[in-house]
Amino acid sequence: MRKNIVAGNWKMNTTLDEGVELANELSTMLENRPVNCDVIICVPFTHLVAVRGVIAGSQLQLGAENCSEHDKGAYTGEVSASMVKSTGASHVILGHSERRQYFGENNEQLLAKTRLALANDLKPIFCVGEVLEERENGSYNDVVRGQVEALFELTPEEFSNIVIAYEPVWAIGTGKTATAEQAQDMHAHIRKVISEKYGNDIADNTSILYGGSCKPSNARELFAKPDVDGGLIGGASLKAADFMGIIEAFD
Ligand code: PEP
Repeated sequence: MRKNIVAGNWKMNTTLDEGVELANELSTMLENRPVNCDVIICVPFTHLVAVRGVIAGSQLQLGAENCSEHDKGAYTGEVSASMVKSTGASHVILGHSERRQYFGENNEQLLAKTRLALANDLKPIFCVGEVLEERENGSYNDVVRGQVEALFELTPEEFSNIVIAYEPVWAIGTGKTATAEQAQDMHAHIRKVISEKYGNDIADNTSILYGGSCKPSNARELFAKPDVDGGLIGGASLKAADFMGIIEAFD
């Protein structure tokens, strides 16, 4: 059966010391506190190795926020999937709307990144989601279908290692959350799109996370929906108590 997952996306926040302190706080809070979901923290590249040391032996898993579409070589400033893997990370966020919007990442590049992540034994947390205009003009189901279909060159075995995060762009960092019903409708749609290509077993086993202004006060209602398997958490993952409050929504 698919896993429930709460994943934090720290984005471009925290210095190294602050990040280590946050990871430390979280792993202390989780000590002797069994939880009912996988918990992943996706941190800046610069923090991966130090955070790995801090969370070793805890229930926390480690992820990066991006990786290169190239394997290796003359790409100054880029960080490859194999480099990410070598830090001890198990996951990588790909296709976040901020990457699509501010860095122009397109479907082709995202497929290349996903392939490299999988080839290096990293689990992609692959983000999809419509912008406000697409929500308002009613094209949101088609838009998200297209973003998911961008991965359909993957083999069934490859696809079964993907986690999807539905993040309506109008809800990210805006304080405006999708209603639990809007999230459920889209998650069910995504699962159907996956099942059309890969069959019911793979679709049923794919974890689909919700992201967009998720916080302790709304997580329980969102996660109670049958196709919402957890959350990708931005702002609220930067405060250990808030992140814990979201994890506890699975109690
Ligand atoms: C995100 O950026 O992945 C996100 C969901 O952000 P926030 O929780 O701050 O809306």
